[in-house]
Amino acid sequence: MIIITDECIMCGSCAAECPEEAIDAGDDKYVINQDLCIQCKSCMDVCPTEAIIEK
Ligand code: SF4
Ligand code: SF4
Repeated sequence: MIIITDECIMCGSCAAECPEEAIDAGDDKYVINQDLCIQCKSCMDVCPTEAIIEK
């Protein structure tokens, strides 16, 4: 499972990169919709704060 931690600074880069449009802005960080995520990890490569981790 790929998740976004509190390190997120809400830059939006991951959402723009996701091929499944599985990432949306939450209240204080971006959130991955696990029903849509295909675990491609493209989002992890573009995050400037390494907030996206595999768990
Ligand atoms: S792992 Fe891939 S499909 Fe899942 S949220 Fe990241 S970019 Fe989107
Ligand atoms: S790329 Fe990283 S810092 Fe930017 S919105 Fe996504 S999780 Fe947050």
